[in-house]
Order: sequence, then C-alpha cells, then structure tokens
Amino acid sequence: MATNGENQNQVSRHQEVGHKSLLQSDALYQYILETSVYPGEPECLKELRDLTAKHPWNIMTTSADEGQFLNLLIKLINAKNTMEIGVYTGYSLLATALALPHDGKILAMDINRENYELGLPVIQKAGVAHKIDFREGPALPFLDQMIEDGKYHGSFDFIFVDADKDNYLNYHKRIIELVKVGGVIGYDNTLWNGSVVAPPDAPLRKYVRYYRDFVLELNNALAVDPRIEICQLPVGDGITLCRRIS
Ligand code: SAM
Ligand code: CA
Repeated sequence: MATNGENQNQVSRHQEVGHKSLLQSDALYQYILETSVYPGEPECLKELRDLTAKHPWNIMTTSADEGQFLNLLIKLINAKNTMEIGVYTGYSLLATALALPHDGKILAMDINRENYELGLPVIQKAGVAHKIDFREGPALPFLDQMIEDGKYHGSFDFIFVDADKDNYLNYHKRIIELVKVGGVIGYDNTLWNGSVVAPPDAPLRKYVRYYRDFVLELNNALAVDPRIEICQLPVGDGITLCRRIS
C-alpha cells in the first residue's frame, strides 16, 4: 500500500502531466493506483519510481499503471525480442525486462546514458540487466543501420516508442519493417496531455503546444495505415497499440 508521501507525490504528478483530462477525476486515477497497481508492483519498480521521483525531469517517467500494462501486454503476446526507443531512468524498460523470459532481449536506445545509468543499479539488482542492450545516441541512425543490415527485418515481437514526438512518424516508417507480422508497436503519449482536443487558444505549455501537431499527424496517419490494426488506449498519457498485419 502506498504511503501518504507517495500519494502526495503521485497526486501532484498526476495534476502536473494532466492525466485528469483522460479520466473523470484525480480520485479515480488514485483509486486505480491504490487498488490495482501498487499492491502488486514489484519492489524494484517501486524503488526505481521513488528514485526517479527525485530527478528534475521526473515528468518524463512512465506511470506505474502504464508500467503494469506494458508488463502484462508483453506476457500476453509472449514477446521475446523487443525494442524500446526512449529509456530515461528505465521504468518502462524494467517493467518490460521483468515480463520477458530469461533469454528475452530489449534493444534500448536513448541519447542520454546518464539517466539510464541512474536507474541501472536497480535493474541490475532485479537480475534482468542481461536482457538489455543499451545504445546511446539518436534512434533514427540506429534504425537506418538496422534496415540497411537486412537481418533485423520482421524480427521484433514488441517495440515501445517513447522518445521525441516530432520523430514518431520517422520511427514508424522504419520500425514497421522491423516488427514482425503479428507483432505489436506501442506509441506512447498519443493523447498528449489531452491537448489533441484543445481549442486553438487554449493556454498550453510551450512544449505541449510544440509537439501537439506532430502527435495529431501521427494519430491521423496510424488510423489509415493499411499495414496495421490499431487501438488507442487512455492509459498513462495515451498509448496507441499497432499490430502489424502485412
Ligand atoms: N520510457 C521512459 C520511462 O519509462 O521512463 C521515458 C522516456 S522519456 C519520455 C523520453 C526519452 O527519449 C528521454 O530519455 C530522451 O533522452 C529520449 N530521446 C529524445 N530524443 C531522442 C532520440 N532522438 N533518440 C533516442 N532517444 C531520444
Ligand atoms: Ca511516455
């Protein structure tokens, strides 16, 4: 069960990132966390969440309910070979690593190694670091290299995209080739703080306004892409699951 301090922390974070726009109330979100998420959250994920809460960019972390969702999804689809674009301190990475079988793999990319290394001791202690192949640098050149290599085509069971929103469509062009037919891509933050339905004069934070058009463009493109079937879920800040069908 969460402590009071933790509740406070979650509540303020909740207001900060605007999940309220996706659920009827903060109380409802809190109910989900306390009833269905925190009681079963592995100790290592809680430790990483607490550690990340102290970091100045903690707004970027995956929420505990979304971590739980990713963990279950990976088990449901029996994913073994996965990729993550956008690691930060590794909450979604650890949620993924815990769900994979012992010989499962995650190719993880981020331009920032320092934040990954902040969470790494927790991942190591959890005994799942051997599943992770971390690459430091911008994801696009890595993906281009993999496409050029040829041997990665159709090889990933699951790909989680949670990095620079202005590149999501560029990522999509490439990872649609790398995910296997029947495999799943998850694009994160596709409801973008609820701003996808904000009126033009709404007072949005600068970064929310900047990325909003890219998110809208992505959502429109995914909805008509004949190579995938999709489902957009109001979990976290919105996650769009895409199953490759051709
Ligand atoms: N999934 C992470 C988690 O669970 O905490 C959150 C990821 S955070 C929202 C976005 C991350 O994308 C940042 O760590 C940032 O350094 C990384 N990023 C930004 N641009 C990138 C790029 N071009 N290539 C790879 N990573 C990038
Ligand atoms: Ca995210």
